[in-house]
Amino acid sequence: MTAPTDNLRINGDRLWDSLMEMAKVGPGIAGGNNRQTLTDADAEGRDLFKSWCEAAGLTLGVDQMGTMFATRPGTDPNALPVYVGSHLDTQPTGGKYDGVLGVLSGLEVVRSMNDLGIRTRHPVVVTNWTNEEGARFAPAMLASGVFAGALTLDYAYERRDLEGKSFGDELKRIGWVGDEAVGARKMHAYIEYHIEQGPILEAEKKQIGVVTHCQGLWWLEVTLTGREAHTGSTPMNLRVNAGLAMARIFEMVQRVAMENQPGAVGGVGQVSFTPNSRNVLPGKVVFTIDIRSPDQAKLDGMRARIETEAAEIAAALGVGCSIEAVGHFDPVTFDPTLVSRVRSAAERLGYSHMNIISGAGHDACWAAKVAPTTMIMCPCVGGLSHNEAEEISPEWAAAGADVLLHAVLETAEIAG
Ligand SMILES: [Zn+2]
Repeated sequence: MTAPTDNLRINGDRLWDSLMEMAKVGPGIAGGNNRQTLTDADAEGRDLFKSWCEAAGLTLGVDQMGTMFATRPGTDPNALPVYVGSHLDTQPTGGKYDGVLGVLSGLEVVRSMNDLGIRTRHPVVVTNWTNEEGARFAPAMLASGVFAGALTLDYAYERRDLEGKSFGDELKRIGWVGDEAVGARKMHAYIEYHIEQGPILEAEKKQIGVVTHCQGLWWLEVTLTGREAHTGSTPMNLRVNAGLAMARIFEMVQRVAMENQPGAVGGVGQVSFTPNSRNVLPGKVVFTIDIRSPDQAKLDGMRARIETEAAEIAAALGVGCSIEAVGHFDPVTFDPTLVSRVRSAAERLGYSHMNIISGAGHDACWAAKVAPTTMIMCPCVGGLSHNEAEEISPEWAAAGADVLLHAVLETAEIAG
């Protein structure tokens, strides 16, 4: 298997034009996009993508989750396809590139292969996963989760939005229930290109993130039970102060995360105080600890320590403490062969690069359960994402797509 030569590049102008064209579908209110999953805007975006796929000579398959698979045939009828892609759905106040870059760069890769007259032994399939964002129907990465066998189709169809509409009904309404059984497709490899959604690549002045891992996470919901009492008339020694226990637990979470560097993070983003009144000590405090690490042993070790120490902190104050795990992903280690293929492609093309860990979840994290998988990242301005102001440069977009082209050509094997 020979590596593609460094003169093979995608068409950066065409990629950027397609990104701008797609961004007109489901415009936001501040220059970004609101193309939430299974809305009319989503249907419109799908139709546009479908028309581009057909113009590029691809054959479209759709599964029962509405995930779109656009195939460019290979020369070997027995060779499994190389999959690329990401998602076209956005947050309600989302950016123009989160997900979209991966799908349209996949399309640009096959357009470039068409231009260059390149055939590959393995087919190449451009994928648009349904409901990556999970903003309208939780959880995120719903279709890839069903594809990987981690979630069932029935469970997915029963997810409901805030208006009570179900995923299954809405998928039917927009006309995108496909006939393929979810997960029936077998993959030779899956390669997802995505914006970093963090500040590291820009700060380090690197064009390409070679993604080695996806972080695993635990969400721990902590319920502290104290005694509601007057903040003015209750002496300090007679208080059962759930709020104080919460504050000490926050400090402890910070310490545990810092003691697990490099790579581990931990914090609290959501708190509910009861009764949440200025002059009442809280009787009940509920909050969620979010801890993440690319290392399974570290992640589970952090969880065990936090549970033990939280119980000790609460007990010392006479506060009741119960902890429930309400969310979990295992860390993912991407396929070493694909990872080094991405790195040497960046090298060959003359792009600066560094290893990076995906801090957010992606469809690739589920795909890794069923196929050799990796990701490529490009920087985004200020690390800003899930925000209409999300921005990348045309040069950044093209560099990552060039690397994607090379990784695909090497994995799908140039024929003849
Ligand atoms: Zn995304």
